[in-house]
Amino acid sequence: HLLDVNTNLRSVVERTPDKVAAISRSRSLTYSQLDRRIDKVANALLASGLREGDAAAVFARNRIEWIELLFGCARAGVTCVPVNARFAQAEVDYVLQHSQPRLLVCEDELLDGLMAGGSPLDPSCIVVLGDRPGGLRAYEDWLAPASEKRVEVPSGIDTCWFLGYTSGTTGRPKAVIKTQHRLAVSALYAASAFGLRASDTSLIVMPLFHANGIFFQLVQLSVGGTIYVMEQFDAEEALRVIDQHRISFASLVPTMYSLIMDLPVAVSERYDRSSFRSLLSSSAPLAMATKYRMREFFPGAAMHEFYGATETGLVTHLAPADQMRKEASVGQAFPGVEVRLRRADGSESAVGEVGEIHARGVAFAYEGYYKDPELTARSFDADGWFSAGDLATRDDEGFFHLVDRKNDLIISGGENIYPTEVEGVLLGHPAIAEVAVVGEPDEKWGDRVCAVVRLHEGESLSAEQLRAWCRDRIASYKIPRKLLVWNEIPRNPTGKVLRRVIRERLRA
Ligand code: ATP
Repeated sequence: HLLDVNTNLRSVVERTPDKVAAISRSRSLTYSQLDRRIDKVANALLASGLREGDAAAVFARNRIEWIELLFGCARAGVTCVPVNARFAQAEVDYVLQHSQPRLLVCEDELLDGLMAGGSPLDPSCIVVLGDRPGGLRAYEDWLAPASEKRVEVPSGIDTCWFLGYTSGTTGRPKAVIKTQHRLAVSALYAASAFGLRASDTSLIVMPLFHANGIFFQLVQLSVGGTIYVMEQFDAEEALRVIDQHRISFASLVPTMYSLIMDLPVAVSERYDRSSFRSLLSSSAPLAMATKYRMREFFPGAAMHEFYGATETGLVTHLAPADQMRKEASVGQAFPGVEVRLRRADGSESAVGEVGEIHARGVAFAYEGYYKDPELTARSFDADGWFSAGDLATRDDEGFFHLVDRKNDLIISGGENIYPTEVEGVLLGHPAIAEVAVVGEPDEKWGDRVCAVVRLHEGESLSAEQLRAWCRDRIASYKIPRKLLVWNEIPRNPTGKVLRRVIRERLRA
């Protein structure tokens, strides 16, 4: 028997059946109640005719039923297909067409949009979460007749637990196969690295339709702690929950930390945040200035950062002791993961030299892309190394520094220009609030550097003033040739700048 995602949960249920496992605004479940609900979901899936390897989609914002559904799918050997609740109709259709679920569990608030667009599923295959099932089968009615008998479809090494759709920063979201065994192993490594224990309560506010949210509820439940499932992010509500539920751990993206810290002091001082024992940041660069603020705002909380992708899970870890010592680093190789930096010819980069990050290992969670053997084959090399297309350098202590994504690299007159470096310089200009630097095709130079900025209110900036600012700060070939002032810089929901979208707009 391989370790699967229910193995750890079941031993926690045996040890602490009456402990609270999951809380939300309206509900709370002990471990034994959760265990029974999970078995009911697994039996209901089987009663609906789903069998091992079939897909069941979930289209909902964060709520406790997500947990039941995720673990229920795992017990029945069914693949859960999380559908991004913020997707537009065409994107939802794409995911449903691609994954071909036999059942769709949809939140009542999202139902109208789904039906208006002409759902590709027969209404008899739709189950509705919430109070307004709109004439379709309600989730509780679907569960009611299902038995609580223990279901245990043994999971193989290849059993796909869920499809992790990437955020689509570089193109259309890719569906990554996330297997039970690898995630169960990886969750134990993560619990140990971040020091998560049964006495912790984790705030789950990253969407449960993405790998990050799914992974961190698994980590906390695997060690017997409590999770608080928050519907969607709101800065003040997050502080209220931290205070009321004595939250000790959270995995958030940098923008969320900033939004919390940007609340007026009169608001934030209403809430006690001393329970926060450790915090984790990922997905986008965490600026040094933000770290200083976080240290003040959450005094005594250990600060962790990791770098990874939907495909890979955790690749590097910057531990609390290194946060201030290693500026702009994403840390060292995660335990159980090997990391290499490679040159374009495949040889290993030297210390300090930019290379593409490759990873593999026992705690490394990548199996391939769903129904896409060609893309899967291209994403691995012969020795099983995977690259998400990120460029980095490594210092002599084995700390990695992300440079940029390979696709965003600007090559002008044969020189490599890393947009993040140029953005860092521009952000220092007092008039600039936000910036994105991209390459624009140019006949003479190959690419030319183009800066898109959002200015602070009431400010103005000319291309000449910008160039003057850059002149002593970066090499002349890196200085933007073109300046565009926009009211908004396009970002995805996790706060990543969508340079791909900017390039498309420049071409249009
Ligand atoms: P797509 O693969 O569809 O283009 P995406 O790469 O944004 O979208 P994710 O898997 O959600 O999809 O994000 C992974 C990427 O996020 C990494 O490849 C890296 O570029 C970036 N990233 C992850 N962690 C960090 C971090 N700590 N600091 C900076 N960037 C990070």
